[in-house]
Amino acid sequence: MRKIDHWIDGKPTSGQSTRTGPVWNPATGQQQAAVQLAEPADVDDAVQSAARAFEQWRDVSVVRRARIMFKFRELVERNLDDAARIISDEHGKVVSDARGEVVRGLEVVEFACGIPQLLKGEFSEQVSTDVDSYSFRQPLGVVAGITPFNFPAMVPMWMHPIAIATGNTFVLKPSERDPSASNFFAELYADAGLPEGVFNVVHGDKVAVDAILDHPLIRAVSFVGSTPIARYIHGRATASGKRVQALGGAKNHAVVLPDADVDFAADHLVAAGYGSAGQRCMAISAVVAVGDVGDALVERIRTRTEEIKVGPGRVDSSEMGPVVTREAQQRVLRYVDSGLEAGATLVVDGRALSVEGHEDGFFVGPCLFDRATPEMDIYTDEIFGPVLVVLRAGTFDEAIDLVNANPYGNGTAIFTSNGEAARTFQRRVTVGMIGVNVPIPVPMAFHSFGGWKDSLFGDRHVHGPEGVSFYTQAKVVTSRWPHVHDATGAHLNFPTAH
Ligand code: NAD
Repeated sequence: MRKIDHWIDGKPTSGQSTRTGPVWNPATGQQQAAVQLAEPADVDDAVQSAARAFEQWRDVSVVRRARIMFKFRELVERNLDDAARIISDEHGKVVSDARGEVVRGLEVVEFACGIPQLLKGEFSEQVSTDVDSYSFRQPLGVVAGITPFNFPAMVPMWMHPIAIATGNTFVLKPSERDPSASNFFAELYADAGLPEGVFNVVHGDKVAVDAILDHPLIRAVSFVGSTPIARYIHGRATASGKRVQALGGAKNHAVVLPDADVDFAADHLVAAGYGSAGQRCMAISAVVAVGDVGDALVERIRTRTEEIKVGPGRVDSSEMGPVVTREAQQRVLRYVDSGLEAGATLVVDGRALSVEGHEDGFFVGPCLFDRATPEMDIYTDEIFGPVLVVLRAGTFDEAIDLVNANPYGNGTAIFTSNGEAARTFQRRVTVGMIGVNVPIPVPMAFHSFGGWKDSLFGDRHVHGPEGVSFYTQAKVVTSRWPHVHDATGAHLNFPTAH
């Protein structure tokens, strides 16, 4: 059985781990590897390695840091196919989708290549006689990332390129369900010339996470995952004095108005609902059909949903792969049963789907519910599987109220041909990322990504300007170099400009 080690101080190591966890191939249902589950001592090794590396890395010029990022970018692009296959084999998503996530992650690396520009400070000359004032940002030290299974490349890449380019050293604790991509990128960083200890990977579960949250040398924690864990991470890490951004789960609504192009909306809703088997934090999982658009919309979503080709991620013709584990598969199936029992109409039933030659794989066919209501658990809960739920709303106002009453606030979209309705929507919804005729409004790397309400704990979003701000702290210098020293004696009043 293949063993997946930690990556500490520039090399793979099994450290002091005595426990391992299974890594499944979701397409076959077979265990394909065993990943080390770190003990606190392993986390400490990684943190000490990062702390040692920080002493040199902080003094490496921004230009040299940027050059390493350029090289890393080139190496990731050159190895894109291998990265995509590694992701697909452990996550289950189709290879083309896995390539897409690496490319979106690379956009953050490209952003980080501009670090000399991003770290330029501000200078005010002669703020008082012979006095100048300037501000600049410095790295925090050792920072950590804790990431979910659903984007094993992209979500860590929201964090480490910016953390490292701003001069920090990094400890990553990726999901134990698809750990290999992180080691692959660690090797590419080493090949790009990143000094040992600047980027470390510890694999593990709650034991490793808690050791990170409590470690006195870790200055900041970026977390992405489900809401209950995000809330826990935020509470525990802030209590130990760390800076924290903790991104949680989601229930993303798409509101479709009667004036929308229904075919266009249906195409995009199917892509956004079932891509990656619905395991995207920005997946559309609730469609709110307003007024009389419902019947036509559901019919068009139905025909497209029934055409989705489900199969192993490695097979070119597959459009949708399995979900990540047997447990996830069973959970999704339970929700579909529950929706039926609660009285929603199951328009497309994917429960019985079986993929020839892969009967033990963790597959669930796409499922489509119509006429769900807000109290049903298929609406209230984040199912995180290929289940799209349609609700009917009488008016636009009702639809907005529904979006705003939901505790999550990650992403939402409106489909309409009316600019004024779109503008009203973007102004009134209590959600962090909004798409206008765009179903998955993930901002580009030079903007910041993050939700509102139960989708984010902490105050700074990831990547873009807020990412740079998160991983740095500001200093302001007030400096006097008088050309003539006119000693006028000591004045005890509070100094004002003169
Ligand atoms: P998860 O919360 O189960 O796990 C995330 C990380 O936390 C993993 O590294 C895991 O090892 C660790 N963890 C799990 N249980 C823990 C515990 N009890 N104590 C300490 N650490 C623990 O999430 P997941 O299932 O891997 O990923 C799916 C979730 O992530 C979904 O809810 C999805 O919406 C969310 N997500 C959110 C975003 C976003 O941008 N807001 C992006 C991607 C995924």
